[in-house]
Amino acid sequence: MKTRDTLEERIYNFSSGPAALPLSVLEKVREELLNFQNTGMSVMEISHRSKHFEGVLDRAEGGLRRLLGISDDYAVLFLSGGARLQFSMIPMNLYAKGKPVDVINTGIWTQAAIMELERLTEYRLAASLEKENFKRLPRLEEIDLSPNASYVYIASNNTIYGTQWHEFPDTGAVPLVADMTSDILSRRIDISKFGLVFASAQKNLGPAGVTVVIIRKDLAEKAKDTIGTTLQYRTHIKHRSLYNTPPVFPIYVAALVTEWTEAQGGMAALEIRNEEKAKRLYEAIDVNDFYYSPIEKADRSVMNVVFRIRGDREDLEKQFVGEALKAGLGGLEGHRSIGGLRASIYNAQTLEGVNALIGFMKEFASRNG
Ligand code: PMP
Repeated sequence: MKTRDTLEERIYNFSSGPAALPLSVLEKVREELLNFQNTGMSVMEISHRSKHFEGVLDRAEGGLRRLLGISDDYAVLFLSGGARLQFSMIPMNLYAKGKPVDVINTGIWTQAAIMELERLTEYRLAASLEKENFKRLPRLEEIDLSPNASYVYIASNNTIYGTQWHEFPDTGAVPLVADMTSDILSRRIDISKFGLVFASAQKNLGPAGVTVVIIRKDLAEKAKDTIGTTLQYRTHIKHRSLYNTPPVFPIYVAALVTEWTEAQGGMAALEIRNEEKAKRLYEAIDVNDFYYSPIEKADRSVMNVVFRIRGDREDLEKQFVGEALKAGLGGLEGHRSIGGLRASIYNAQTLEGVNALIGFMKEFASRNG
């Protein structure tokens, strides 16, 4: 059996993030590392105001705009501070007094966003699946939206629980804001349905350190002047993400990743490939009495496949993770808050890697079942 990318020492990496990057992107980084475009310098050593870096920004922004069909009504920003900074920046910029934010609580990442809303604004829970341990998403008729909300907040993919919105709520004139950290660029998305979309890079976009924010430009104008300059989206729009020194290296790798993504055939092709990978993996879980998926079928994530060994056998799950790693399959432990197993199969994970995991799962089940 041929294993692991093309380089024997590399493993199939199923980590939830920082996650696997396409091998060809890493090779390109290595090739260009010491002398970027004949500058005689690494991309890490050139001025962020140089025409060379402007070229990198153009490539990263252009790639995202083409892949997601982002219109000129939206700005595409490359910011620091991780997805978590957005949990504060969004309410600071988009909340209007007397118009509580509507939140749909689907897990730890929306709860972390709620923690910041509690400090900064009023909010209401339009739906919460906490009582059901976040094992499914709300059905559209279970969501109680207010027409008076400043915005509606969701996480499009719940990295920890393994749920994903396959149909988004219609929020009418109220802007829909989505944390797409763990599923951006995994499927076709109509950005015009959203007021703001954000994603930190370390799953489908590149290395950690840059967060992409796609924001409808008119919404950025709503922020009060009393918030810090660097915390205002309009500052970054005006300065094209160059107000403070941006994370140049992660943006450079993100440019390469968007180019790789386009070369794969863009969102339509990746959507098909990602669905195929997930389908195979869920089938392997469902047909085998040894494993089960705790997630309701309709809401299962195509990116983060969460599963357990029947009886919630933590001892066997630990053994599974250890033996899988020895077989060249890494990062399969569930999130520390809920345990179990999780295979994150972002864009860079190959079908070959998924098949290798399925083979290991069958073999492990027959030995321990
Ligand atoms: N939102 C989601 C959906 C995530 O999966 C993560 C990280 N795994 C975060 C937010 C937090 O991202 P960061 O560490 O970049 O702040």
